[in-house]
Amino acid sequence: MQPLEFIKFTPRTNCGECGYAACLAFAAAVTKGGENPEKCPYVDVSQLGDEFSGANRGKDGLEGVGKLLDEKDLALVAYLKKKTSTIDFAAAAEKIGCQWSGPEKDSLLFHFLGRDVELSHDTVLIEGQEVEDPRDQILLYNYVHFGGGDKPEQEWIGMESLPNSISKVRTLRVYCEERIASNFTEKADLLIKCAPKLGAILQENPEQSCTAAFFVPVLPRLPLFVLFWDEDKEDGFPAKVKVLFDQNVMDFLDIESLVFVCERMAERWVELAQ
Ligand code: SF4
Repeated sequence: MQPLEFIKFTPRTNCGECGYAACLAFAAAVTKGGENPEKCPYVDVSQLGDEFSGANRGKDGLEGVGKLLDEKDLALVAYLKKKTSTIDFAAAAEKIGCQWSGPEKDSLLFHFLGRDVELSHDTVLIEGQEVEDPRDQILLYNYVHFGGGDKPEQEWIGMESLPNSISKVRTLRVYCEERIASNFTEKADLLIKCAPKLGAILQENPEQSCTAAFFVPVLPRLPLFVLFWDEDKEDGFPAKVKVLFDQNVMDFLDIESLVFVCERMAERWVELAQ
């Protein structure tokens, strides 16, 4: 069975309960990598054939999973490059908060999590290095392709208030909020110390009763507001993080890319603390 056939047995909500960020990734892991289909609580395994029983699972090995996902990502990069090939960067730059390099390079210049990006119609450079991970390329080309909209107003809302986000709330929690919270429990000073390296600005008087709050301009017109509550041993509360979005955020990215940007922010914050 192919992943696209298997995915029909899932509800396709990308809820993350199986441990994978998306149903397609889980479908690839089951059909190509021998993953247990029962890890998705919504799959009725009695509907699946013998192919997925015990030893018959995963004939192609885990390598097949990576290959399939890479191919899908690379195809999406190619598609987005084609889509952006018709965009006039000089005219588009202002609306998405970028600088235009001029006609010679015809690139967009901006910051992504505190690092310099140069995006042309063919390549993306971060700090002068060509970006290898297709997921970063997808994110950055997607940002350009969206073309911007109303400027951020810093009216902050949670992921749960964004349209079609029910399945993404958990993904955001697992891959971003809990990752930051667990890595910086009793380390608020370290969280604050690393913040400027990813362009995050500590807020002096956050309205919420949190330990620290940050304004994080992950992309030029895409700020996040990150709240951190450290562990409260007395009352038995673990450390907690809440990420908030500008109410106009959907003018700048789709929900999938938005969750990915948060995942990248968490990864980078943790990396910087190593
Ligand atoms: S657990 Fe959620 S993300 Fe995983 S396959 Fe099932 S519906 Fe999709």
